[in-house]
Amino acid sequence: MRVLVTGGAGYVGSVSVERLVQAGHHVVVLDSLVTGHAAAVADGARLVRGSLRDRPLVEGLLRDERIDAVLHCAARSLVGQSVADPALYYAENVVGGTGLLDAMLAAGVRRLVFSSTAAVYGAPDRVPIPEDAPLDPINPYGETKRAFEGALRWYGAAYGLRSVALRYFNVAGASVRNGEQHEPETHLIPNVLAAALGRRGLTVFGTDYPTPDGTCIRDYIHVEDLADGHLAALELTGRAEPATADEAAVPARSTGPNDLPGAEGGFTACNLGSGSGFSVLEVIRAAEAVVGRAIPHDVGPRRPGDPPVLVASNERARELLGWTPRRGTLGEMIGSAWRWLQAHPGGYAGETRGG
Ligand code: UDP
Repeated sequence: MRVLVTGGAGYVGSVSVERLVQAGHHVVVLDSLVTGHAAAVADGARLVRGSLRDRPLVEGLLRDERIDAVLHCAARSLVGQSVADPALYYAENVVGGTGLLDAMLAAGVRRLVFSSTAAVYGAPDRVPIPEDAPLDPINPYGETKRAFEGALRWYGAAYGLRSVALRYFNVAGASVRNGEQHEPETHLIPNVLAAALGRRGLTVFGTDYPTPDGTCIRDYIHVEDLADGHLAALELTGRAEPATADEAAVPARSTGPNDLPGAEGGFTACNLGSGSGFSVLEVIRAAEAVVGRAIPHDVGPRRPGDPPVLVASNERARELLGWTPRRGTLGEMIGSAWRWLQAHPGGYAGETRGG
């Protein structure tokens, strides 16, 4: 496959690029490098620095590189920033996204996998969350992801686009080459490890939730498992009919010529999560086991907008994509993140491609 990966210099994108290159695919990365890092792009991939909203650039790349399918990871992804500046989120996540779709149609590219998020569900009233749960985001970040999923569905019906939205739960861990480096960092595991290194204090946001230890429960998924899911979803967008006996067991609901196997229409959404959850305190304890010492932390008030429990149902990903999380323990996720931090004490700063 010849794949364009937007946002391929970011955390999730870069690990997916590694996976695609390793599987022998031709990979072109388009990234503005506003939040991504050039050094994160695997050597086997071509890196083009530019904006998704540069229509001549995007359409030219799709044509010149004879792209078969797009993995669309480029997006703004900070919840707090999205509340403060929704215009940025609509411009980049929605307008940028539909511009990409229009360029794809003009260039005759009709396969796409989209980095979506569990934030499209908002604060669901039942867990594990199935894909047909109501989509009710509680912040502009989740809303813009939902809006783009809607575009994918309707572009599928009208223009024959075949697409899969992957709704990520809490992505964690690192490959040997690439890890998580956000500025500012808001996520639990990087903050816990930074506290272990004495780089910052750690606050547990709320211990009065209706959970066994009073802290929030999340479904953590290893970034390399996520990368496997992306590859499987890209393959699904190119498949006309169930190819193996196993896949034939998937209910044959397809009716139209561009329908995805096992889906209704050219669009489907799949959760990518482990199907089980860990509390904030369990994460801290697992990190203490990894680093071999106590990690100081204090307790603060709840963070606004945090639902008590978010856990995925991952049955559809198992059925449709043949995907299963293979690195599901906190020890594997936190251990890989810790090893990456040890190997890259300054993050990507000062690193160049090939370094
Ligand atoms: N959290 C915390 N301290 C931190 C960062 C996160 O207690 O410094 C909690 C947060 O309130 C949530 C969980 O850890 O309950 C996971 O948060 P994260 O931001 O990693 O992911 P989210 O689930 O919000 O996408």
